[in-house]
Amino acid sequence: MKFLLLDVYPNKPYRINKDQNGGYGTANNYGFGNSLISKILRFVVKNSVDFPPHYLVQLAGELINSGYEVKYSRNIIKNENFDIYLLSSSIVCHETEIETIKDLVKDNKIVFVTGPFATNCSEPYLKAGAKVIKGEPEMFFHKFNKDVEYLINLPNIVENFPTYEIDDLALPGWKIIFDDYVPVMKFIGKGPAISIYASKGCPYSCFYYCVYPLQQGRKLRIKSPQKVLNEMIYFNEKLNVKNFIFRDPVFSIDRKHTVELCEKIIDLKKNFKIGVETHLKNIDNELAHLLKKAGVNLIYVGIESSDTSVKENASRMSDTNINQISKINYLEKIGIKVKSMYIVGLPADTRETYQNTFNYAKKINSTYAQFNVFTPYPGTPVFKEYENKITAKKYEEFTQNELVFSHNKLSTKDIFEMLDDSYKLYYSNPNWVVKYLLSKIKKIFIH
Ligand code: SF4
Repeated sequence: MKFLLLDVYPNKPYRINKDQNGGYGTANNYGFGNSLISKILRFVVKNSVDFPPHYLVQLAGELINSGYEVKYSRNIIKNENFDIYLLSSSIVCHETEIETIKDLVKDNKIVFVTGPFATNCSEPYLKAGAKVIKGEPEMFFHKFNKDVEYLINLPNIVENFPTYEIDDLALPGWKIIFDDYVPVMKFIGKGPAISIYASKGCPYSCFYYCVYPLQQGRKLRIKSPQKVLNEMIYFNEKLNVKNFIFRDPVFSIDRKHTVELCEKIIDLKKNFKIGVETHLKNIDNELAHLLKKAGVNLIYVGIESSDTSVKENASRMSDTNINQISKINYLEKIGIKVKSMYIVGLPADTRETYQNTFNYAKKINSTYAQFNVFTPYPGTPVFKEYENKITAKKYEEFTQNELVFSHNKLSTKDIFEMLDDSYKLYYSNPNWVVKYLLSKIKKIFIH
């Protein structure tokens, strides 16, 4: 049996990533702002970060491990026949995915849609003529040994199949991705980069609006440090990968596990370059040094807002502002770059509370800052409060750079101005410019 893993994207001048935001995806259009800084950011990010949804790569690994022929493509391959088409779903490419399914179904192709967005919003995919695999598709295809007939005769919604320990899964199928294109994450290092997991799931209270627990559950599942290390060694040897993007929702959530993994990576002496996302509550100075020694050079942290009541209203669990500043300063002092992420227009935000958040962002002055518009996503608990207030006409507008609902206190124009000003004023702030120039000078002298 021959499978095509289809990962389609609309043709846009900005980066679209289906792995981020719990597999629903994000699009970095920076609010369509026309300032020079917005244009530079769109160009730099589009040319620096590109990797596929990890579940699709894991799915490829499972099928390869079971002996099937598998290809990956970002377009329908017209001159080759496949028995089954497995399409990745997302909110940011939703309408493009639907059109692709219709084209395939017109030609009598069998299409299965996978991923968290189709899991929580299956109807449009079913209507277009596809079957939907709900939940983690890599679990459905783990040790798979069936034929085309079996797949054709499955019900339109495939669900409630067994799940396995993440330690039991096959090696992800990165080879077939590299046959199509080379994934990169230039903010952590030059050359190929792959995404990897050391844990899945997040138990924190912000599941109220966050998509990660929808994708992976609220229960923490840990991959053994040795298994993680084996994957890193394998892809370093086979595909010359030295850059690893850990996609755990909260990388250092289990301190003991993180310490063990870092120690193993340090003992390997491979000089890997690593990017992680974590919660500042799960970082201390000792751990920061260990991360740095293991090769972590970029950490993403969610700050969301500086205002306690705005955060409480959204059930956001945070460290104190004072701790956040001192932890980020410390990470950057020891040479780990930080990208701080803020939310524009949380439900309880006003222009004034957001202005305070923006002033706080300037005070933190991390190497990178990202400002995303609050977005109620289908499937999250908060969506129930907003489903009758959605103003977006297409799911592809759910980019985190546009207001997609009618906000109680802020208009679309307010949000656009707040977002555009945030990027313009953050990256032209003299304190940030001086810090950036100093880091460049330091790099020239160190190398
Ligand atoms: S800490 Fe909150 S925002 Fe981060 S992944 Fe967990 S639930 Fe989502």
